[in-house]
Amino acid sequence: MTRSTTNVAVLGSTGSIGRNALEVVAASQGRLRATVLSAFSNTELLLRQACEFRPKYVVAADAEAARGVNWAQLPTECELLIGPEAIARAAADADVDVVLTAIVGSAGLWGTWAALEAGKTVALANKETLVMAGTLATKLAAERRAQIIPVDSEHSAIFQALRAGRPGEVARIVLTASGGPFRNYTHEQLAEVTVADALAHPTWNMGRKITIDSATMMNKALEIIEARWLFGLDAEQIGVVVHPQSVVHSMVEYVDGSVVAQLSPPDMKLPIQYALTYPERVAGPATKLDWSQMHKWEFSPPDVERFPALELGWEAARTGGTTGAVLNAANEAAVALFLAGEIKFTDIVPACRSVVGQHTFETEPTLERLIALDRWARQEIATWNCHSARR
Ligand code: NAD
Ligand code: MG
Repeated sequence: MTRSTTNVAVLGSTGSIGRNALEVVAASQGRLRATVLSAFSNTELLLRQACEFRPKYVVAADAEAARGVNWAQLPTECELLIGPEAIARAAADADVDVVLTAIVGSAGLWGTWAALEAGKTVALANKETLVMAGTLATKLAAERRAQIIPVDSEHSAIFQALRAGRPGEVARIVLTASGGPFRNYTHEQLAEVTVADALAHPTWNMGRKITIDSATMMNKALEIIEARWLFGLDAEQIGVVVHPQSVVHSMVEYVDGSVVAQLSPPDMKLPIQYALTYPERVAGPATKLDWSQMHKWEFSPPDVERFPALELGWEAARTGGTTGAVLNAANEAAVALFLAGEIKFTDIVPACRSVVGQHTFETEPTLERLIALDRWARQEIATWNCHSARR
């Protein structure tokens, strides 16, 4: 039997997830094909990827960055599209079967949105889409019969573990968290953390924004919200446990007390591949557990006092409406300020808490309203920074 090829649009192909995805495609023996590649500023790498994978569309989202590249080297079968609008056009193309949304931050919303509107299967890495607009995105997916398959390792684990029972039999889920590089730091030590310290994650090698989110545990907060929308759970059904080795990727607890988990070494190639080949499992390039070695896997409850971001995650999962969009934008802006050396590591979460607290909550916002709030929250973070600098 010849297996058909799955055509994948890799949105954010030059990022950490995108590069892992292309390794999965390259190792798939023709089962997967990269039909679309898109990137923002790293256009040199985009060109090299295009020469290797020969996609139908190459999307350079940043017109300015696209200018400095010699596109004459592009294989003749590739069509070059320039500008942010081209992402949506390429994602919705009739030849595309699965859209891997691996653009970082709220900029990733549009590609995910276009894919859902076109009824595509979405392999979702861009958790920010669900954090910002979970109600609207899941509604759109249902209307267009577009399936969302998680790529985030914790959500992939839950998605896999959910196959062990029926929806009504789930009591709760437990998200594992590495705890980041500062899990044993005191308040005083946390206040002195530098950008270089925060970018050195102990178990995962990821993009800069999510690496900082992991250090503050805001990443876990965003994942609580992501899980709420992906799996239709109440905030109270979503627990978090610190597991520094990042091997048990998350678990589902059923009503009878059985806990079903998914395990594998920390390597994003596995959840990416599972999302692209689902419902099939195929041999692939992800690292395997070595059972000839001794393993020690620890679990402990998170310290919500030292890592107050978690409470913001449960709060946004509980309230829904506009909270997620405000939290997401405030966090993106605060992380950018921290990376620029303008605020302290321990300012990030209080800044987000302050902006979330100031916003006028609405239960059923439109997408336009969420985008306006995203802009507002970023301005508030800038103002918060000016005020705190004067103190
Ligand atoms: P990254 O910073 O390494 O890569 C981001 C990609 O998005 C790049 O290809 C970049 O060119 C593109 N991009 C950035 N801004 C853009 C814009 N304005 N318009 C169009 N394209 C733009 O990020 P990453 O670590 O690969 O993370 C990508 C997404 O996957 C994030 O939403 C993150 O939360 C999620 N995720 C990542 C990991 C991981 O291991 N890295 C794990 C789970 C989830
Ligand atoms: Mg994750």
